[in-house]
Amino acid sequence: MKKPLRYGMLLIVSGPSGSGKSTLAKRMFERFTEMEFSVSCTTRTMRSGEVAGRDYHFLSEEQFRRHVEAGDFMEFATVHGNHYGTLKSEVISRVENGIDVLLDIDVQGALQIRKLAETDPFFARSLETVFVTPPSHAELEKRLRGRGTDAPEVIARRLANSKRELEFWREYKYIIVNDELSVAEEALGALIQSFRLSSARLKEPPFDEC
Ligand code: ADP
Ligand code: 5GP
Repeated sequence: MKKPLRYGMLLIVSGPSGSGKSTLAKRMFERFTEMEFSVSCTTRTMRSGEVAGRDYHFLSEEQFRRHVEAGDFMEFATVHGNHYGTLKSEVISRVENGIDVLLDIDVQGALQIRKLAETDPFFARSLETVFVTPPSHAELEKRLRGRGTDAPEVIARRLANSKRELEFWREYKYIIVNDELSVAEEALGALIQSFRLSSARLKEPPFDEC
């Protein structure tokens, strides 16, 4: 069967810290091996187990500010007291060339990109949005503590912010409650499968001339 030329999707996955976005994203990269991750810039310190350039581009405040001034970011925001931003260079040429790109970004960044999609056909065509929630506040707290990567005061701040972040769930087209991980994984996998069938992103007919 013909493999048609297509644009990629720009898949935003948001949700409170500890809801399971990174865990689910990792599983999607195992399942959809051609999908790629948009490596964000951040001024937060590296966690143990993280790799610079793979998980984030870890920048100083000064380096981050220079990217802002140069207009390098597609979106940027301050989250839990640190700066985070998506470089245009992580996303645009890949999506133009048919590569699906997953962005793990917060609600402020997602709203900025959704705004771009109101007027810019590139974003209108490529954007898909999924919100991931924990089943309860108690479970979120358990997961953040269980992850063991953050100091107690960092966890407290993230838990406090989660209430505000959860209010934005209706801004996303799809929502996954990450209770049982295997169920959430199937749900996100099914969504990505259907996003890949979008006719809007095809550059040509997916069949031979009849
Ligand atoms: P996020 O990227 O949204 O901050 P993580 O993917 O780091 O969240 O998940 C936070 C913690 O919760 C991790 O220790 C992860 O292993 C665990 N976790 C993720 N999903 C589930 C789940 N469905 N059930 C139990 N634990 C989970
Ligand atoms: P963490 O520090 O746990 O990796 O991420 C904290 C929050 O920042 C999460 O909500 C994550 O989605 C968000 N985030 C990560 N990268 C970006 C980015 O490039 N832009 C925005 N707006 N948020 C981001």
